[in-house]
Amino acid sequence: NPKINIVGAGLAGVEAAFAIANRGFDVNLFEMKPYTFSEVHRSEKLAEIVCSNSFGNKKLSTASGVLKKEMEILGSTLLKAAYEVKVEAGGALAVDRVKFSDLVTSWIEEHPRIHLIREKVEKLNDSDIWVVACGPLCDKSLLEFLQEKYIRGDMLYFFDAIAPIVYADTVDYSKGFWGSRYSDDKDYFNCVLTEEDYKLFYKELINAQKVEFREFEKNYFEACLPIEEIAERGEQTLLFGPLKPVGLKYEGKQPFAVVQLRKENKEGTLLSMVGFQTKLTYPEQKRVFRLIPALRNAEFAKLGSLHRNTFIDSPHLLNEFLQLKSGENIFFAGQITGVEGYMASAVSGIYVGMNIALKIKKGKMLTPPKNTMFGGLIYYITIKEDQFQPISENFGFINVGNVRPKKKKREIQAELAIKNTRIWREQYESEFN
Ligand code: FAD
Repeated sequence: NPKINIVGAGLAGVEAAFAIANRGFDVNLFEMKPYTFSEVHRSEKLAEIVCSNSFGNKKLSTASGVLKKEMEILGSTLLKAAYEVKVEAGGALAVDRVKFSDLVTSWIEEHPRIHLIREKVEKLNDSDIWVVACGPLCDKSLLEFLQEKYIRGDMLYFFDAIAPIVYADTVDYSKGFWGSRYSDDKDYFNCVLTEEDYKLFYKELINAQKVEFREFEKNYFEACLPIEEIAERGEQTLLFGPLKPVGLKYEGKQPFAVVQLRKENKEGTLLSMVGFQTKLTYPEQKRVFRLIPALRNAEFAKLGSLHRNTFIDSPHLLNEFLQLKSGENIFFAGQITGVEGYMASAVSGIYVGMNIALKIKKGKMLTPPKNTMFGGLIYYITIKEDQFQPISENFGFINVGNVRPKKKKREIQAELAIKNTRIWREQYESEFN
């Protein structure tokens, strides 16, 4: 068998290691800590949780609850660890981060088939199988190598400038119109603001609570200003930027201001707010953006942010097995692929690990199921055609048509996703055994 090496013992790398080793194959797990630490990693232990200690909601009425259920079906090791060291957090699954990393590290160290090597990887060879799971703060030396050998310069991004994404079925379409600037295309939904709406929105936006930039993030964002910073340059500035009405007509005249929503996926179930990258806190984003009349009852599949995050242009570089198109022995997993968040990163590691085990044993791999959270993530990051930005799990991935009320729709979506994941797992086992 070829040697299997994993770069990075973070959330994705650890899951990939277990998925491979538990199926009877030896794996080398490389981790650069404690000799080198990224700007945010602090602990010598593995699967370090760098920020919030929450893995998100457990309820099946939420996307993150459904994803966790799918991970359980796929045999997630990190989820098992999380339940052993959980702390009370209402509907969310939160962990004691120190105990969590201690437990995962001990499981790795005790596993007879996982060989932990505390070393920085700076180069990959062509003969071994590699899983690059080096995370959003991947070491520079490896990035330079990847860039030189496999990834063109313009296919590696260094920060996210994420605008909020809303569920299309929560927009009030009576408060705007479909159309494009200067053309007859109906590509955008234009949320209309009167002068009065705009003034209120503006006042609340500049007074809203923001997240401070971290020191290491400060230089990255000149090209991509947060909406609230544009607003601070003057009351009219947004009307010449993201809220400009020129080239658009509503009820026979140019509206005072317009917020454009653009389709975020082929099915049109998700719409992103054009030019609305922001450092507002999550609760403030919901409060302030719901002052836009068409978004009064909007629900957000994802909120906006701006932060340092290295990720590759997966739609161009990877196939649906998260395998490099230009190097079939090299796989990617975790946040470097453009999935976002602890659990989304972890599940991509499980998926890649399972497929590597199947490839070695049976010479084949399985594409993920459609209409599941984890499959949705993989398809999104490998087929999104333009304006690729990182994504986390959301109900837009599970297409069940126009069911009402929304609570019923979520139930049907959750059921379908869980059923499809079960079927996939059974199919995997029958192929593997
Ligand atoms: P990581 O968990 O970062 O693991 C990568 C590992 O690879 C690290 O241990 C690193 O030391 C190692 N490594 C890197 N390069 C090399 C190399 N060349 N050789 C050997 N080892 C290497 N997500 C959330 O869900 N909630 C949050 O609150 C949250 N807050 C965040 C805050 C910040 C500042 C950042 C940067 C990210 C945050 N994230 C959050 C995202 C979070 O980082 C990811 O969701 C998750 O940790 C990614 O998992 P990963 O396995 O891809 O990478």
